[in-house]
Amino acid sequence: MTAVLRRPRETPPLDTRTWTIGAPRLLAGLDTADRLDLREHLGTHGPLPAVEFDRLLAVLDAVGGLPGRGGAGFPFAAKLRALAPHRRRVVVNGAESEPASRKDRVLLRRTPHLVLDGALATAAAIGAREVVVALHDETTAAAVRAAGAERADAARLSVRVTPGGFVAGEARALVRALDGGPALPPGRRTPPTDSGTVLSNAETFAQLAVLLRVGPHRYTDTGALDEPGTTLLTVGGAVDRAGVVELPTGTPLGIVLAAAGVVERPQAVVVGGYHGAWCAPIPEIRLSRAGLRSAGGTLGAGVLLVVDHGTCALGELARVAGWLAGESARQCGPCRFGLPALAADVAALAAGQPAPGGRPGRQLSTVEAALDHARAVTGRGACAHPDGAARFVTSGVHLLHDEIDRHLESGGCGRPVLGRLPIGAA
Ligand code: SF4
Repeated sequence: MTAVLRRPRETPPLDTRTWTIGAPRLLAGLDTADRLDLREHLGTHGPLPAVEFDRLLAVLDAVGGLPGRGGAGFPFAAKLRALAPHRRRVVVNGAESEPASRKDRVLLRRTPHLVLDGALATAAAIGAREVVVALHDETTAAAVRAAGAERADAARLSVRVTPGGFVAGEARALVRALDGGPALPPGRRTPPTDSGTVLSNAETFAQLAVLLRVGPHRYTDTGALDEPGTTLLTVGGAVDRAGVVELPTGTPLGIVLAAAGVVERPQAVVVGGYHGAWCAPIPEIRLSRAGLRSAGGTLGAGVLLVVDHGTCALGELARVAGWLAGESARQCGPCRFGLPALAADVAALAAGQPAPGGRPGRQLSTVEAALDHARAVTGRGACAHPDGAARFVTSGVHLLHDEIDRHLESGGCGRPVLGRLPIGAA
């Protein structure tokens, strides 16, 4: 096994703009304040009611279990039900390893008490002795520590900065790092709940804090019927108004694009982050888990990136595929061999060249080679990184088939790669 350990990330600047479609819930108060201290937080949101375990489950069940907002969308209620009875702790995943994502750091830096409310209420309900906020950068850690120092109920709170990297933000990698191991997914797909840890991302805990205050009835008075409430999206790429937006779940894509200043229909959108998918920019697509699933996408990590006609979309795809291959921990075969081969296929497509490889004895077109490699890595890793990378590439290859033909016929499209899809440290 080759362990790739990284230093904590350089602290990124975070001058992220926030805006809302409909009434704000999580972002309430941020239109007039850079940061809500405890007094402003309580003035904006009111006091948090105490809740016992059974009541917490009932409230969560009344809103569909509260799907997690970090990627997989696993219901928070199901995590509580699966929790082992011993050594219980609550972990807020603030790692936000998606390069384009900003939403969790906006919450943790600007309205940290909302996240802490959700985490501390959970800890009280399950009898946890420890609440850990785990993240990758010092500025956000300092903001959370400052918030903790304002509270009388934060004695069991600690803030930990763990090594950065795309897969280091994966739940089991984060738990492993907190327990003194490398920030890598372990070989077995054992959920954190097996060891008594309830882990969810920062937005999930903030959603819980809102839900506990307003109750299920009011919580469900906005958003999609089957996924009520609001959600946060980080919007970027070729938009005039990049930032973090709070919107009712199920809001049509066209409304969000218009609000972000996108005038012309773009080439494509990338939804869910780099374990997400490329989608046609159909204005009627509903931005909910079910709505995106029916369009071949995923809400995933809550990222929406716009790819305009000025950039080479295939080059953008190749750039991210190469980055994803480099971000693996190189512990498992699919990541050591499969993802680099997949990235090489996509690079060949972008260059309009024949596939560099393929399986022995098989003559494959470049497209077939890429899809073949994507299939070969899916479901084979110790974590979901190969699956997510394969989904990202496969959806792009399918969506960009006209571009691929053009590249293979002419050796390219003549457009530069403008980097609409950011890579590197977030
Ligand atoms: S699948 Fe890849 S990223 Fe996941 S544990 Fe194995 S080597 Fe690491």
